[in-house]
Amino acid sequence: MAKLHFYYSAMNAGKTTTLLQSNYNYQERGMSTLLFIPAIDIRHAQGIISSRIGLNAEAHAFEPNFNFYDFVKNYIQNTKISCVLIDEAQFLTKEQVLQLTRIVDELKIPTLAYGLRSDFMGEPFEGSRYLLAWAEDVSEIKTICHCGRKATMNARMDNNGKVLREGEQIEIGGNDRYIALCRKHFMNGETSSNRELNTGYNAARAG
Ligand SMILES: [Zn+2]
Repeated sequence: MAKLHFYYSAMNAGKTTTLLQSNYNYQERGMSTLLFIPAIDIRHAQGIISSRIGLNAEAHAFEPNFNFYDFVKNYIQNTKISCVLIDEAQFLTKEQVLQLTRIVDELKIPTLAYGLRSDFMGEPFEGSRYLLAWAEDVSEIKTICHCGRKATMNARMDNNGKVLREGEQIEIGGNDRYIALCRKHFMNGETSSNRELNTGYNAARAG
């Protein structure tokens, strides 16, 4: 039975690596997949999903007005696919999450979405809100804060490692400007356990 799966996490928890590993598992069994990434992410300008540990795969770029259901329905007239995988799924619109539910329910294709739960201000992303509400299977890809507690929040930092509290929800580029923190350290803005020796920037790189 096909299901809609949502794998959520904080920044730099290895979401993309997990996606590419799942994709590899399908392909190893001779099954075809369809991969999607948001067009807004400059790392994905050439239609490639790549992970920090060197895995990569070709993917279709999507805009907010892209219709996943129509695209997949049309695509499977010529090519059988066994799974749909979406990276950076927080950038999906509500309408697009609804389209994913139809890919699962009507086209009977398992769909795996990977995304961040909340933005740098702690607000839920639209895509993640509806994935959390509508997916049958929700799992967390865990990572830790510099203090060792589970990281659930994503802080955006300036060049000096200071946590930013205002700005646009989506800012292009600079994954190294984000750091995954536990809620307590997100709230008090501590990006490192030793601010003298270890700037927030370095902590983010090491994490
Ligand atoms: Zn912490």
